[in-house]
Amino acid sequence: RAKEQGKNRFHFYSRALDNDVKRHYRIERALKEALADERFFLLFQPQIALRDGDVTGVEALLRIDERVMGRMSPAEFIPVAEESDLILKIGKWVFEACCRQIAAWRKREGIHDLTVAVNLSRRQLMDEGWAHFVAETLQTYEIDPGRIEFEITETTFVHIRKRGYETIKRLQALGCRFSIDDFGTGYSSLANLKQFTVDKLKIDKSFIDEIVENDSDRAIVRASVALAHALGLSVIAEGVESEKQKRILAQMGCDEIQGYLFSRPVKPEEIPPLLSR
Ligand code: C2E
Ligand code: MG
Ligand code: MG
Ligand code: MG
Repeated sequence: RAKEQGKNRFHFYSRALDNDVKRHYRIERALKEALADERFFLLFQPQIALRDGDVTGVEALLRIDERVMGRMSPAEFIPVAEESDLILKIGKWVFEACCRQIAAWRKREGIHDLTVAVNLSRRQLMDEGWAHFVAETLQTYEIDPGRIEFEITETTFVHIRKRGYETIKRLQALGCRFSIDDFGTGYSSLANLKQFTVDKLKIDKSFIDEIVENDSDRAIVRASVALAHALGLSVIAEGVESEKQKRILAQMGCDEIQGYLFSRPVKPEEIPPLLSR
């Protein structure tokens, strides 16, 4: 009987594994198709200064046309892309699309001072050609490198090796800025953070979700704000959905917020009207 159960369990696991593998390949195929057929697009989510309510920047967030594989979140397809060199091609597409968009906002709307935050994966930092590609693309679209802020997750930061560190230094030498994304979810030590001169900490949404009712989350956020400021960095809170959360963050001296309270990620043409709101 035990043997029978064991056998069933084996079938269960192997079927689950089989589905995972199939799903992985389906996503990989969809990503290749999206690259070949130009089925990627970007949405942009505003970042707001708490001091005066101004939109200081936008984060570029990747999407795939629903016709390719239905609605799929980047939280699902980016990890698949990161398992192969696909992430390099996709990352290049994202960066060039950001530059094209910055140039279009400048030409059509006279917008010059918006910062665009771009998410970077570990493999991009490890790619020897990445810094060069960034420099060339900025030049092609005549973009001030200071308008670009690269977001790297805390977990990636912890695992950066020499080559990734060199990429960061080269991009900083150009004038690009850096922020630590999903801060609080990785396991970075203070010593680890000290060796990188980043400009901004992005406190992860998971600490903001219950900041109103959970004392320890509130303490963690307060300490993160203090730490960032002591190191000379600015702080932004991710995933702010309510006025109450916003008020607490303002009281703590958090510099900026990003979240559905102000705006969801939106199409590029919806950004200019938000700037004058
Ligand atoms: P992230 O960089 O931490 O981006 C923030 C995510 O939180 C976005 O999810 C955004 O839509 C969502 N968000 C923002 N405010 C709120 C809120 O108030 N409530 C809720 N529930 N969610 C909010 P999204 O667009 O699904 O992206 C998920 C992740 O995928 C990103 O997390 C980032 O790690 C990755 N990603 C997205 N685009 C790119 C890209 O171009 N390159 C790379 N390497 N990764 C990307
Ligand atoms: Mg991000
Ligand atoms: Mg984040
Ligand atoms: Mg995230």
